[in-house]
Amino acid sequence: LSGDSNKLSTTEKEVERALRPLSFEDFTGQFKVVENLKIFVAAASKRGEALDHVLLHGPPGLGKTTLSHIVANELAANIKVTSGPVLDKPSDLAGLLTNLDERDVLFIDEIHRLNPIVEEYLYSAMEDYKIDIVLDAGPNARTVQISLNPFTLIGATTRAGLLTSPLRARFGINARLEYYDAQLLTSIVQRSSAILDTPIDDEAAYEIARRSRGTPRIANNLLRRTRDFAQIKGDGRITVAIAKMGLDALDVDQNGLDEMDNRILNTIISKFKGGPVGLSTIATACGEEAETIEEVYEPFLIQEGYIKRTSRGREATEQAYKHLGVVSPHRAGQ
Ligand code: ADP
Repeated sequence: LSGDSNKLSTTEKEVERALRPLSFEDFTGQFKVVENLKIFVAAASKRGEALDHVLLHGPPGLGKTTLSHIVANELAANIKVTSGPVLDKPSDLAGLLTNLDERDVLFIDEIHRLNPIVEEYLYSAMEDYKIDIVLDAGPNARTVQISLNPFTLIGATTRAGLLTSPLRARFGINARLEYYDAQLLTSIVQRSSAILDTPIDDEAAYEIARRSRGTPRIANNLLRRTRDFAQIKGDGRITVAIAKMGLDALDVDQNGLDEMDNRILNTIISKFKGGPVGLSTIATACGEEAETIEEVYEPFLIQEGYIKRTSRGREATEQAYKHLGVVSPHRAGQ
């Protein structure tokens, strides 16, 4: 339930693809971002130019990949998909870039994890649609400049803060995706269950939605798991009782926090007296990578008011104590 698509099996990835909206009209929420993208796409199309490079940032599972595919669709262009850690050498990047047609989209996921040498190559590609390639080695080595077709780079990142400033400066469009509210997620759950051909009660869709950490990918995952419960424990229809049974079995609590969220809160409160405690210390105690906690769990816990970031580390809030049913030291002293 972490929202990390890399942990999904192949069939789950296929279902995820089937549930992916294909046009702006199909895409729920993120209204401001979508409105702006629509205008930029329409203007670029009208001029027959490549769309400016786009940086999409925000926590995993909020629709960055989906939006990139939609932008390519709406541009009537092809999209090539890769990710920062995969682009090992400049030649990997050059191979992709030289195969792009005019106005195509190159999507680079986790763009904050680009190898610095590859990143350097990207600068001139983005700015002038040119790259320098070194041919041969040793005394015969020479550089040739290759012109590229005008293209659009869409970079996605969960950590905009880790982007170098020269890279960030080369994106003309910069959009941040936000967590979805329960109402928007309810309509996403309803749309997905229609695609999966599974009847669902409104109240059940809402129950799944409000317990999905504001994240469409998690909402879709929980929907698929509760569908299993409906098929085995019920008559196939997802009722609110079935949804609750499924969600409890999946360790998603009443407030929509999952097991790792609770483990993090528990660690801060019972092992470190509520903090402040450093991220890496929390990570070791929870058996999770610091990076994952920072990218996946913490943003939601902060937004929902369970923890706060201070200069000395992470601190549990009053609400976190209440959530875990522990009396906070501040209260006890009063
Ligand atoms: P990210 O790239 O930000 O990690 P994805 O674009 O892969 O997120 O989205 C994860 C899944 O959530 C997709 O399969 C898609 O079906 C669903 N999804 C994301 N955003 C929306 C949305 N606005 N409306 C409907 N489904 C969405």
